[in-house]
Amino acid sequence: MKILVLNCGSSSIKYQLFNMEDESVLARGILERIGLEDSVLEHTYGEEEIEIEKGIPDHNEGIQIVIDTLLDKDHGVLENMDEITAVGHRIVHGGEKFASSTVITDEVIKQIEAVSDLAPLHNPPNLTGIEVCSKLMPDTPQVGVFDTAFHQSMPARAFIYALPYEYYEEYGLRRYGFHGTSHKYVSAKAAEFLDRPLEELKIITCHLGNGASVAAVDGGKSIDTSMGLTPLEGLVMGTRSGDIDPAIIRFLMEKEDLTIEEIDDILNKESGLLGVSGISNDSRDVNEAAARGNKRAQIARNLFNYRVKKYIGAYMAAMGGADVIVFTAGIGENAPDVREDIMDGFEYMNIHIDKEANNVRGKETEISTPDSAIKVLVIPTNEELVIARETQELL
Ligand code: ADP
Repeated sequence: MKILVLNCGSSSIKYQLFNMEDESVLARGILERIGLEDSVLEHTYGEEEIEIEKGIPDHNEGIQIVIDTLLDKDHGVLENMDEITAVGHRIVHGGEKFASSTVITDEVIKQIEAVSDLAPLHNPPNLTGIEVCSKLMPDTPQVGVFDTAFHQSMPARAFIYALPYEYYEEYGLRRYGFHGTSHKYVSAKAAEFLDRPLEELKIITCHLGNGASVAAVDGGKSIDTSMGLTPLEGLVMGTRSGDIDPAIIRFLMEKEDLTIEEIDDILNKESGLLGVSGISNDSRDVNEAAARGNKRAQIARNLFNYRVKKYIGAYMAAMGGADVIVFTAGIGENAPDVREDIMDGFEYMNIHIDKEANNVRGKETEISTPDSAIKVLVIPTNEELVIARETQELL
């Protein structure tokens, strides 16, 4: 069985084609700059990588070129399109409707549309991906896997904002959380790694990438997470502010004569590591500049790490302790210095990092010392594989 996993963003399409016999990746790639004249598709198959530059006006042609590339005589991996048994889509927002993945039907499409105003930048391109696939391969089943689904187990005390309750009832204004696929995957992997039942473990998962969030996973269920109605809440991220005093919005609008759209852009695209450092949204650039003595980069780095540390502490309180802390995603998997800095100061709780073991990148590893009261692990995430597996299961 071959499953195509699609992640359609507003100007990009990421894809992976899995052979589910052995869960190997037959091909993967990313098409970026859709809508511009210099769209570029990077396609990897086996050890080979090719780049195709071609103006791609929209997702229709975008998905078509992905499929054409998968079928290509020279660098394709399929003989014909029917070999794709199903398509799994990453859908950002499932609102309260979707607590698990689901087979796409007309009714499901309507329900995803109905919650699109909760994720106006993300859900519409996800839906476009579904529509285009329905046209191009009408007989191939499709499955939606939602970023929010795993966090639907949060209790009301974690998901209700202390705003007039009517807004929740009327608009679904509440905390949803994101990166659910990743938090679910790495928490299950952590239990497997430790050879202990997931149901017995209290796990704090730190997904630290360009977008970043922490989750408290108690017995395999998310009971709290740092992102909220949108991915803007919580940690300091590449370009997002994370938690701020909401009064800042009015203050800044008045001082700088800004519109609400401009404020939205500032909070989502010009803040975080980029905004504070003035250098980059990429943590590698920021950490390098910090190491060279750049003051603003040092502040940005410290702010990022400190915010993660505070959330870990908060989630220990929320769960009445923790057994495991997991680091994952671009930064979590690849930045030993960031992990060390975040865990520095937890010694009073008898948590100890083994510096040598921590000097690892992108590999499942226990980085705490054997006598550490809480295990600290690096577990590489694999959201695409989860989407492929859930798609297979639902068929
Ligand atoms: P997203 O999927 O949210 O776009 P990723 O999970 O790919 O993000 O993470 C991107 C972040 O990971 C960037 O800030 C980048 O600096 C960081 N990163 C990637 N590789 C490394 C590395 N080798 N060392 C340190 N940081 C890394």
